[in-house]
Formats: sequence, C-alpha cells, structure tokens
Amino acid sequence: MKKNALAPETLAAQALRHIDEATGSVVPPMLATSTFARDENYELRDGYIYARYSGPTTAHAEDIIATLEDGDESLLFNSGMSASVAVVESLPPQAHVVAQGMMYHIGTQWLQRQASRGVIALDHFPAGDIDALAAQIQPGKTKLVWIETPANGDWSITDIAAAAELAHAAGAVLMVDSTAAPPCTQKPLDLGADISFHSATKYMGGHSDFTAGVLSARADLNLWTEIRDVRGFQGTILPAFEAWLLIRSLRTLHIRYAQCSRNAMRFATHFAAHKDVEAVLYPGMPTHTGHDVAAKQMKNGFGGMMSILINGNAGRALEMAKKANLFIPATSLGGVESLIEHRRTVAGPDSGIPENLLRMSIGIEHIDDLIADFEQALATTSGHA
Ligand SMILES: *Cc1c(COP(=O)(O)O)cnc(C)c1O
Repeated sequence: MKKNALAPETLAAQALRHIDEATGSVVPPMLATSTFARDENYELRDGYIYARYSGPTTAHAEDIIATLEDGDESLLFNSGMSASVAVVESLPPQAHVVAQGMMYHIGTQWLQRQASRGVIALDHFPAGDIDALAAQIQPGKTKLVWIETPANGDWSITDIAAAAELAHAAGAVLMVDSTAAPPCTQKPLDLGADISFHSATKYMGGHSDFTAGVLSARADLNLWTEIRDVRGFQGTILPAFEAWLLIRSLRTLHIRYAQCSRNAMRFATHFAAHKDVEAVLYPGMPTHTGHDVAAKQMKNGFGGMMSILINGNAGRALEMAKKANLFIPATSLGGVESLIEHRRTVAGPDSGIPENLLRMSIGIEHIDDLIADFEQALATTSGHA
C-alpha cells in the first residue's frame, strides 16, 4: 500500500511504517553520532555529513511531523524558542514584523528586544482581532505576521485563513504558533499559513521529559533554506536522543490529545457553573468569544488548555495553586499530567493576565480525580481573603 493512502494517525502510530531492515526492530533506532564516514569514493552515504546540520533520527521525526502537518518538510530544533528565533533571524534586515499582542511571553520578549536593538520593526495587534491585524500590516514592508491560536492567557482564537489572506496580500509570510492545537486537530498549512510552528515540548512530546521546537512548511517557501542555514550555523537542531523520544511520543499523540480534550470539556463545563468561579476561558465552550472560529479550524477537539478566573484576588489564586494535591504547580503544558499555574506570577504584571487567573493544563488522568482536586482547592481557600 502507498504511504499516503493511509491516514496520518496510522502512519504516526507505526512511525511511518518503519521496520529496521537488518534486525526487524519495530522501533526506529536511535543513531547518536556527531559525524558520518564517507564511502570508498569519498561520497556521503546518505546525505548526512555532520550532526550540527542533520541526522537520521531527527530526520525520521521530521518526516512524521511533516506527514501530520500536510507539509513537505519539517525542521526540528532543541526548543520552541530556538525554532521561532531562527525564523526571525532569517528575515531581511530591518524587516517589519506584526505579532499578536497576547501570546507566549518569551516570544514577545525576544521580538521586543530585537526591535529595541533596531534589528526589526515591530507592531502588535490584539489577539483575535482581524481588523486590527489588517491595520498593522504594511504592504511591501511587513515580512512576517506571527499569530498564536489558541493563545496563551485567555486562549483567544485568531482566524488562520483570514490572517493568511491579509499577510499574502501584503507580501508577508504567516507563521502560526499552533502549540496548543497539534496537527491531529489543527493544520495551519491547510488553512493557508506558510509556517506551522510548535513548541514540541508540549503536546507533541507530551511527557514533559525534553524541550523541542518544530517548523513545518511547503516546499515553495522562500525563507526555508535560510531557516535551515540558521539552524546549521547556530547548532540548534534537536539531538538524536530527544528526537527518538519524540518519535515515541508522536505514536500516541492522537489518543493523548483526544483524552485531554475530553477531560477538559468536562472540567470546563463543571466549573463554569461553580459559585466560586467568575469565568472559564476555554475555546470548546460555546460562551468563549472565539468558539465559532475555533470550531471551524480545530477539527478534532479543543485540547486541554484553559484558564479559570476564580472569585477572589491574587492571594486566593496563589493559595489554590498551593492547595492543589493532584494538579502539579509548574509551568508548561500538554503533558499527560495535569498542571496548575498562577500565570501572572510567571508572565509578569505587564502581561495583561488577570491576577485571579489560574492556567490549567488538563492531562489524561481520570476526570473525577481532577474535578475533586480543584473542588477541594476552592473549598479550602476563601474568596474574601
Ligand atoms: C512553550 C511555548 C513556546 C516556547 O517553547 P519552548 O519549547 O519552551 O522553547 C512557544 N509558544 C508556546 C505557545 C508555548 O507554549
């Protein structure tokens, strides 16, 4: 059977139908080497020359992700940040960049630092507001539009197809940070984006045991060669061991994400009706401002990320993060274990994150245990602290 006749889930579950020719190993081998011997004609045997540029285990993981993303190629990096930094470093000098206002805060910090050093020109638009995005784009000048959907903080949704049209009309490239919506539910390239970007530390990795980042694109993207070169100059490629762990993780991405989505929907529904909760921000809820667009572009579940605004102040929110027994008080997201985070403490007072907001990454545990833990954290803290 031809590979592309099979569904992406099927191909990912079998690591692209890999069976090791020499041994029959069902699991792809981890090939950790810094350099590759040439053959008797002094030719490269398989195109690999040196591990700073590429290696077979990392390439295997990239092929799986490109398949999931409906892309032609993917490039893996040793963190999500190094992947997005490579995109910005690949732009022409003094390029104008339009980035979403509320998004992953370290991405914002990096862009603002580059702007303050005069490397790029930078404008922001409020997340989810397509008209505001249109107003910031400068035809001929804007080289990169960077959106994140669903977006860190309030999980606001930006219409990817509409953003792609605006970017392309101005001659700019659209990059979508789709970390909270892995390709089993959202495929930015199919919606017109030029680069799909993930912190693969999150859902793709899924077990909180390494950091990684990945960019995917179609073959005709001009910037691609430059991005690959930047990775080679900087040596920010994902090493073999982490790539091997990632291949392991991608085999179960679909079922992990489906379980997180199922749990999150029940968790959100339960606490939206709670007397100690002001609001639940979850794109899966019909009450969320971005729900209709989310339903259009997230085809297979809304994921495990939500924010809960509790009745009370920062003191109560922090107290709840401490009182949780099952939810782990840690940053990051998309793992099999559930996390709770007082996001304003992490992102800072300028982040626009409300003080009574708890960011929840809902994992794959039993939903009753998760609901009971948050209930007891609410019950043992006071709304009038
Ligand atoms: C974590 C994260 C990043 C950064 O990725 P790292 O792997 O931590 O470098 C970027 N965007 C989003 C939405 C994230 O959650």
